[in-house]
Amino acid sequence: MTAKILDGKALAARIRGGLADGAKVLAAQGVQPGLAVVLVGEDPASQVYVGGKTKACREAGFRTFDHHLPASTPEAALLALIAELNHNPEVDGILVQLPLPPGIDSRRVLLAVDPTKDVDGFHPDNLGRLLLGEPRFIACTPFGVMKLLEEAGASLAGANAVIVGRSNIVGKPMAALLIAADATVTVCHSKTRDLAEVIGRADVVVAAVGRPEMVKGAWIRPGAVVIDVGMNRMPSGKLLGDVEFAAAVERASAITPVPGGVGPMTIAMLLANTLTSARARAAGRRLT
Ligand code: NAP
Repeated sequence: MTAKILDGKALAARIRGGLADGAKVLAAQGVQPGLAVVLVGEDPASQVYVGGKTKACREAGFRTFDHHLPASTPEAALLALIAELNHNPEVDGILVQLPLPPGIDSRRVLLAVDPTKDVDGFHPDNLGRLLLGEPRFIACTPFGVMKLLEEAGASLAGANAVIVGRSNIVGKPMAALLIAADATVTVCHSKTRDLAEVIGRADVVVAAVGRPEMVKGAWIRPGAVVIDVGMNRMPSGKLLGDVEFAAAVERASAITPVPGGVGPMTIAMLLANTLTSARARAAGRRLT
């Protein structure tokens, strides 16, 4: 079997097209969706991510408020900026690009973002709501993975879903979403015993580890759907996923490539969350 390649780039472009239409409807009501992007320091990968996000915003007709601060920015100054953005009525979403430089407490910063503008879905209020099955903003990467699974036609009810990785931004919200979709979910991490055997039972595999090709193709159950969240920049400059793609593609029924799979979907879902927030503003209501 050769897997269907799940083209995240094309799906994301379609979604962004719909969001641009949504922005036009709001523009007619005098509201332009606004995303504030806060980048602290000069991390090259973060600069690339932020550039991609602001470009996508502008193309969809959203306004961006760019705040690029030096790595030496004191935490208090960053918190003051976030307070200002929280109160700016034209800012519908606030994105603080991670990682923050050493010396800044990321947890304190993420807690300072108004949860009704936390379009990344990282605030405990939003993660908690997701766990309760009452989501407000869904963390963008797992949200994008759900759209890719939908695109793959994966039937999730009763399926064995295995997530490799338990981070707060990918693995844990991913687990909440798959539970809500009635999958039977197993979350693996660095202490998991016999990962190959656990993955071998999965109908759906979501790999979010950050180790190039650590999930071997031979572990994949024939016919499984494989979503590769990993983005590992090799010394050659090549981007590799967490799944051994060349071997997995021969066993899976559908698989995401890296690049061009989950990455573009993350950006599309960030815009989707921002539009949701802007729609609430246009309707004169607060997101509950
Ligand atoms: P993270 O916070 O570093 O978490 C990695 C997880 O993998 C941890 O739970 C860790 O277990 C687990 N792990 C490490 N080694 C393992 C092993 N040998 N066996 C099983 N599990 C193992 O990473 P993250 O932020 O979730 O990101 C994961 C990957 O996704 C990275 O490559 C990142 O660049 C990528 N990513 C991509 C997007 C996108 O838009 N495409 C977005 C976010 C992240 P412990 O908890 O036990 O340490």
